[in-house]
Amino acid sequence: MKIVVGHLYPDYLNIYADRGNIAVLARRAAWRGHELDVRTVSVAEPVRPGEYDLLYVGGGQDREQALVAEDLAAKAEGVRAAVAAGAALLAVCGGYQLLGRSYRDFHGVDLPGIGLFPLETVAGETRMIGDVLLECELEPGVRRTLAGFENHAGRTRLDPGAEPLGRVVAGFGNDGESGWEGCRVGRAVGTYLHGPLLPRNPWFADWLLAQALAHRLGEPPELTPLGDDLEQQAHEVSARRAQTRGGRR
Ligand code: GLN
Repeated sequence: MKIVVGHLYPDYLNIYADRGNIAVLARRAAWRGHELDVRTVSVAEPVRPGEYDLLYVGGGQDREQALVAEDLAAKAEGVRAAVAAGAALLAVCGGYQLLGRSYRDFHGVDLPGIGLFPLETVAGETRMIGDVLLECELEPGVRRTLAGFENHAGRTRLDPGAEPLGRVVAGFGNDGESGWEGCRVGRAVGTYLHGPLLPRNPWFADWLLAQALAHRLGEPPELTPLGDDLEQQAHEVSARRAQTRGGRR
């Protein structure tokens, strides 16, 4: 089956090897006999709901975020309609911030967000940098860990009742205080975790692929398990680094 990915602003939001996430999705899809068809959606190009099974937005610094924020606001309806119609979405760091309602950057400039995620972000004086470990429960009763790296000045506050991606076991997470990281709305996930995220968290890469396929099939399919020895080792190294940084800070 063909899985169509809309990659938003790969020319602006691509910091910390975020493109590695796309490479992992392509490979893991191919190993199951699926083809990932990645289409760039950059400035002045519309998001046509229905066209994409998965939307992807990477990270960027304040400067790059400012360059795309207005354009993204013009795509807001398309992105929201795509997700409402069952497309999966992954947004990382700078992309995550812009998919909330707004981002006030380091200089106090307000950038518009598209309000897909029920949250707001305001940059603080210090950056929150280091390895992170999360505990997630994306399906009731199934707890798994996500390991990654964070580097952000933005403090993200979820609205009351909003669903985070996970609980911070070690690291800062959304704001360094709440104990939560990321946000989830159905098949859409936003997170500060990069490094990139998917190579060291194969279960989550497969969860996303299954959600993208669900856009076509109605239900997420069971994907054939892969021998993920190297990926598990990468996960463990990353998780250990997060845990030895001395707990949540
Ligand atoms: N500019 C944002 C921040 O520092 C996002 C940074 C990033 O994507 N790494 O909070």
